[in-house]
Amino acid sequence: MKQNESMVLPRVGVLGGGQLGRMLVEAANRLNLHVSILDRGEGAPAKQLAAHDQHVDGNFQDSDKIRELASQVDILTVEIEHVNVSELIRLKQENPNLRIHPSPRTIKIIQDKFEQKRHLNANGVPLPAFQEVKSPEELKEAGKQFGYPLMLKAKKMAYDGRGNAVVRNEADIAQAWQSLCSTTANSTASQLYVEQWVPFAKELAVMVVRGRDGAVKSYPVVETVQRDNICHLVLAPAQIDGTLAARAKKIAETAIISLDGAGVFGVEMFLMEDGGLLLNEIAPRPHNSGHYTIEACETSQFENHLRAILGRPLGSTALKVGAAGMVNILGNGDERETMLPCVTALTVDGATIHAYGKHECRKGRKMGHITVVGQSMTQVRNRLRPILAAIKPGGN
Ligand code: ATP
Ligand code: MG
Ligand code: MG
Repeated sequence: MKQNESMVLPRVGVLGGGQLGRMLVEAANRLNLHVSILDRGEGAPAKQLAAHDQHVDGNFQDSDKIRELASQVDILTVEIEHVNVSELIRLKQENPNLRIHPSPRTIKIIQDKFEQKRHLNANGVPLPAFQEVKSPEELKEAGKQFGYPLMLKAKKMAYDGRGNAVVRNEADIAQAWQSLCSTTANSTASQLYVEQWVPFAKELAVMVVRGRDGAVKSYPVVETVQRDNICHLVLAPAQIDGTLAARAKKIAETAIISLDGAGVFGVEMFLMEDGGLLLNEIAPRPHNSGHYTIEACETSQFENHLRAILGRPLGSTALKVGAAGMVNILGNGDERETMLPCVTALTVDGATIHAYGKHECRKGRKMGHITVVGQSMTQVRNRLRPILAAIKPGGN
């Protein structure tokens, strides 16, 4: 950093103040960057780490609150895609000097999973077959075409599998339809689409970082294991051959190059038994599958997100250890029990504990994670074993 630049470091505003914002602030603090957070919670995880009074208490859907945040900063970014994107588009039109990364246009495409799929399909990215369904009758027709099981998905506001319903046969249709119409924010029929069931052998993910100049770098391909649709475990690097890993990176990079704006993106993929790869979805922000980069890579996904949106050179995405594993700590309703794996991790070499500072330990809530590094995947698996054994039922 040139000396005069350090005098005028841009102020960054983040929509959302959960664990992703918190780890972004951790990286920003080392770089002496000023970060303001917009989040409903006064003591939100991200706000806890940035000691100043320029945070905004409010919803990231609220236009006035977004404007209040924008008025204090030079650059806006997001830690969640479910924000009021129309307001971001208006703000950018009114004030071309305000930088917003990734671009509101990209956030708009990604926050609607059906639009995201249409965009990726048009850009030649391999995807499971998908189709909009406006009524249970249309879903029945899709069943005849795609076969069962089917995955019915909400287009918007989806996370941690909330917004997905498995349809095992025709008899499931009514119930699956009802379950999504009642849980999704907007219960009109045009809010759902259906995907062919993917009998994947493994799930993979690739973090891709894109600079303001459009150049991309990808992190190692990782394996992710979901339980009940929520990320449970990440293993880095994925235990797959090099040619396959190169293909996965290529697909991830092609997908990200088709979108505007800088920052890190999480790309989720399915690996088929025959070696085929299909993209599942993209997150326009730091991603759970990239938490391991804090301890295991030369530059973490959080630091690289900041570098990217600020137009600075991107850091190396290479692994600096032999292998790494990350396990999520999910709430089971009892905070002491939930955090037991962290107590075990204190006795495990190579383990780093991240507790997110969330006050309510609700069932299924992401309360923290533990990363374990080692010289090899065998060593990482051995080190993970006691930590995984300490997870109580009802949590992960
Ligand atoms: P996230 O928290 O990652 O944003 P989400 O709510 O957007 O999750 P998806 O990523 O669409 O949900 O799906 C969650 C999980 O459900 C996937 O990781 C995968 O395990 C499973 N899944 C999703 N789509 C399919 C499919 N078409 N066939 C089989 N399994 C699927
Ligand atoms: Mg998603
Ligand atoms: Mg997902």
